[in-house]
Amino acid sequence: MRLDGCDAESLFEKYGGLTYDDINLLPGHVSFGLEDVDLGCALTRRVRLQIPIVSSPMDTVTESAMAIGLALLGGIGIIHYNNTVEEQCAHVRRVKRFENGFITDPEVLSPNHSIADVDRIKKEHGYSGIPVTEDGTLNTRLVGIVTNRDIDFEQDRTKRLREVMTTELVTARKGITLQEANRILRESKKGKLPIVDDVGRLVCLVARTDLRKNEDFPLATKGADKQLLAGAAISTRDADRERLAELVKQRVDVVVIDSSQGDSDYQIKMLEFIKVTYPQLDVIAGNVVTRRQCESLIGAGADALRVGMGPGSICITQVTTAVGRAQASAVYHCARYAHEQGVPVIADGGITSSGHICKALALGADTAMLGYLLAGTTEAPGQYFYEGNVRVKRYRGMGSIEAQLEGGEKRYFSQRTSIPVPHGVSGTVVDRGPLTTFIPYLVQGVRDSLQKLGYRHGAALRQALADGELRFEPRSPSAQIEGNVHGLHSFKEPTLPVR
Ligand code: GDP
Ligand code: GDP
Ligand code: 5GP
Repeated sequence: MRLDGCDAESLFEKYGGLTYDDINLLPGHVSFGLEDVDLGCALTRRVRLQIPIVSSPMDTVTESAMAIGLALLGGIGIIHYNNTVEEQCAHVRRVKRFENGFITDPEVLSPNHSIADVDRIKKEHGYSGIPVTEDGTLNTRLVGIVTNRDIDFEQDRTKRLREVMTTELVTARKGITLQEANRILRESKKGKLPIVDDVGRLVCLVARTDLRKNEDFPLATKGADKQLLAGAAISTRDADRERLAELVKQRVDVVVIDSSQGDSDYQIKMLEFIKVTYPQLDVIAGNVVTRRQCESLIGAGADALRVGMGPGSICITQVTTAVGRAQASAVYHCARYAHEQGVPVIADGGITSSGHICKALALGADTAMLGYLLAGTTEAPGQYFYEGNVRVKRYRGMGSIEAQLEGGEKRYFSQRTSIPVPHGVSGTVVDRGPLTTFIPYLVQGVRDSLQKLGYRHGAALRQALADGELRFEPRSPSAQIEGNVHGLHSFKEPTLPVR
């Protein structure tokens, strides 16, 4: 039978530079339910996610709240670096400490510390369940535990912990499995389970809250230690080798070398340095939009490629420099080459709806990186304010003059000249509410798409793309009008804004 539409290769050969809006995916056959769609995907050679969503390393998008929120839901956040090394490391640390199996380096106090010391830890880190040992350090004898309930009604905050701590403790022995420790926690109804060695010295701690977090977020992106995975970005500058060394001390899981034109000597040097110095660390290199650029970075050891030059909502690179590529074409060509080399691809920029994520995946991307769509969520940095009667947050390009003045120029080589060239703008985006409602809504759109196309998972979709079984059609300007709301005198936007 003659198939409708055309395969991707003929589409891009015939029509040249296409954007997501320039194409439609033709439907396949539906033979399974939405719940059967598996969105598990590769972020890098070694890191897998449960949903194909990555937040962009921008100072109006990703700090610890975004990275924690996304990792809990099965994606990952990349902490931006338009800050001091200490600030970036603090964000990574917050992500890594948010959820735990065995807490191997818990905050510990001694009986001579006061309630004010617990208040200080609570203020700084957010938790107040503190084991008390003989001299206030790990690996000395456990003598008690102080929790919120021991101190919440105490007026005198100078009181010593020896006077308020609980000394009748449920503990478990070193060597116990996490499952067993969790069982004891559940049955004892305690908030914390200190783990001690055979002479009663504190070894680590298990928190009941983590059982809840694990149940509430079954897709969370976690390592074997049950901590959330965190990504962080660095520039190609030599000075950022020190930044990286500090990030590695915080056990960052994946690093992005952030550059608008990835195929440079600077980036290749940095990439080779990281692969030699930290072979256990996966590196996302980029940005790239051509096969040749992909070849350079894969040759230098990239574990994933970030694809996009100019499609970002805040981006004016193609205006100021005329260099870039329409994003659907960039994703298709780069993913085709990268997959032959076994390297995953992140479609970065230009995504304004769940439909765009579907198209990115259908063109071969493994994951999508979002800036615009996430900048209006509760977890993005910054406060909401009103423009007219619309509730908005600030969103700015990292190459905007405003961000450059605060350090974002590292991405654009412009520190090597004295005249700042803007590569982005600064603006506002509408309120999209918390990640816990917005991400499931995006993800359901992607599931729905895979079901309509007839593929249960990304691997099947990519196979269909390679075989030519997945069919595309260009969308004429009138087809684009037809494919959106049209002709109505008025209508109500969907509750969750899609644009
Ligand atoms: P799953 O989490 O049950 O899908 O399975 P895993 O293999 O990830 O976890 C193994 C055991 O560790 C199970 O008993 C989990 O309940 C438990 N577990 C998983 N995540 C956490 C966590 O963050 N903290 C704690 N304390 N236990 C966890
Ligand atoms: P608390 O009762 O005030 O200690 O707080 P919760 O038990 O509700 O939550 C503590 C959360 O912080 C858990 O998810 C822990 O895994 C995490 N956490 C990370 N590091 C530490 C630490 O050093 N001490 C404690 N108590 N919790 C930690
Ligand atoms: P968005 O989701 O807003 O469409 O695109 C976000 C992406 O745009 C980022 O991940 C990054 O690759 C890119 N980007 C961020 N800031 C700038 C900028 O100032 N100029 C350019 N050209 N691209 C930017």
